Amino acid sequence: MNNVVESTLSIEQNPNPVPAAERARLLESPAFGRVFTDHMATIRYTEGKGWHDAKVGARGVIPTDPATQVLHYAQEIFEGMKAYRLPDGGGALFRPDANARRFQNSAKRLAMPALPEDLFLQSVRELVKLDREWIPSGEGSALYLRPFMIATEVALGVKPAAEYLYCVIACPVGAYFKGGASAAVTIWVSDTYTRAAPGGTGDAKCGGNYAASLLAQAEATREGCDQVVFLDAVERRWIEELGGMNVFFVFEDGSLQTPPLTGTILPGITRDSLITLARDMGLTVREEPYSIDQWQADAQSGRLREAFACGTAAVVTPIGKVKGHKHNFTIGDGGAGVLTTKLKAALVELQNGRAPDPHSWLDRVF
Ligand SMILES: *Cc1c(COP(=O)(O)O)cnc(C)c1O
Repeated sequence: MNNVVESTLSIEQNPNPVPAAERARLLESPAFGRVFTDHMATIRYTEGKGWHDAKVGARGVIPTDPATQVLHYAQEIFEGMKAYRLPDGGGALFRPDANARRFQNSAKRLAMPALPEDLFLQSVRELVKLDREWIPSGEGSALYLRPFMIATEVALGVKPAAEYLYCVIACPVGAYFKGGASAAVTIWVSDTYTRAAPGGTGDAKCGGNYAASLLAQAEATREGCDQVVFLDAVERRWIEELGGMNVFFVFEDGSLQTPPLTGTILPGITRDSLITLARDMGLTVREEPYSIDQWQADAQSGRLREAFACGTAAVVTPIGKVKGHKHNFTIGDGGAGVLTTKLKAALVELQNGRAPDPHSWLDRVF
């Protein structure tokens, strides 16, 4: 099914890049996902032919017929990763092989062809090299990369498409939340909507999951909250994750807990990295279910000291308050906890090449 007919990318400089002065101005304080670089990577897939026309070139529009399958049945997956500026001026990706593998898993769930890991890696590395001047160097900033794949066959029949476009775009980003890097967020417990059910697409990174989460997010915003926390779809009791971030709890004995990966939760690379870093520090980390009622009881008794959300975009974000139709509580003093701050620093130092990298997570691109 995935016979690769071409495995090298052609590389073409954008003849009309954004002028350096304009780029410098844009890099000063980029809003998340609004400023884009000069280039993009694209690879096409055709059933019976495999992957072809792999290239990195000038960023531009994707001409789309109105009957293109993705527009109707949402056969789409994506990834989110960052390139970091290193102290010597170089640039590095963080665990891109993990993104490549997760992209293959998402593809499988959405009945799409698996992009070979080496093509995925080449595409992001070559894009980062061409757009190297777009990697910001300010604290907490990075070049966010968005690989994605869409069904491009022009047909309205409901079936896996025979043609696909894989594409990577990039944007310089600063801190994800308005309040700045260490400000705590307030989250809304969604007891009206769920994000994912057993057997569904909860552990695939697909746009459809996000479309289904937007109304819950709108409810959260209306209630004065920053983010939603979703409960399991069966018992409506177990904490799963936020709309686009995994969640961790820190207890008075210094141990950590995070919901287990049982198919309805996205297996975050930040989640996995933090579990490893915490264990490296000698901390106990449990991957066990935790209920919303227990969370409230533990926060009120003081057994629970800290909670945080994590993901590539928002890194590590302390959770200060939790609200819902049946819940309302503050965690610790409502600010960033000690261990949350320590784990975040450990991750950020490593990602920016300022700390040892014992697990060889950094992938130096230039
Ligand atoms: C991408 C994503 C995460 C975080 O994954 P990272 O690999 O850490 O960026 C968590 N939850 C959802 C729903 C996601 O889409």
